Amino acid sequence: MSKEEKSSKVLDSYYENCAFPKPKSKKKKLLHNGYKDKHERICWYTGRPGAERHEIWGGPDRQKSIEMGFQVDLCSELHARLHANCDEWAKTENLKWKMFFQMQYEQKLIESGIRPEMARECWMALIGRNYL
Ligand SMILES: [Zn+2]
Repeated sequence: MSKEEKSSKVLDSYYENCAFPKPKSKKKKLLHNGYKDKHERICWYTGRPGAERHEIWGGPDRQKSIEMGFQVDLCSELHARLHANCDEWAKTENLKWKMFFQMQYEQKLIESGIRPEMARECWMALIGRNYL
């Protein structure tokens, strides 16, 4: 079984017992990250308006980030810095956001009655890496 088939199987069995509806991801309609509300966005760090929405997992996982809301609004300077991931601040913050969203994701599942081990398994099926 491929990694993708396995992950979709785990998710299917999870959603059978889950309070949340399964996201309608099968249609493969690409999601954009809501750039149209840019003027209303405030940078999480500086409070400056006109922030850009940043997906915590990029590349092949960018769509999952949008779908799951693993996003934060950033002014363009800090956005570029997090993408570059070159300085200590950026490295620390990138890791903190990943830990935060994993924790939040697993916590929601646990609160809906999913066992912690199953919540971790769902996380691993979704992102494939443990940050906690
Ligand atoms: Zn970004």
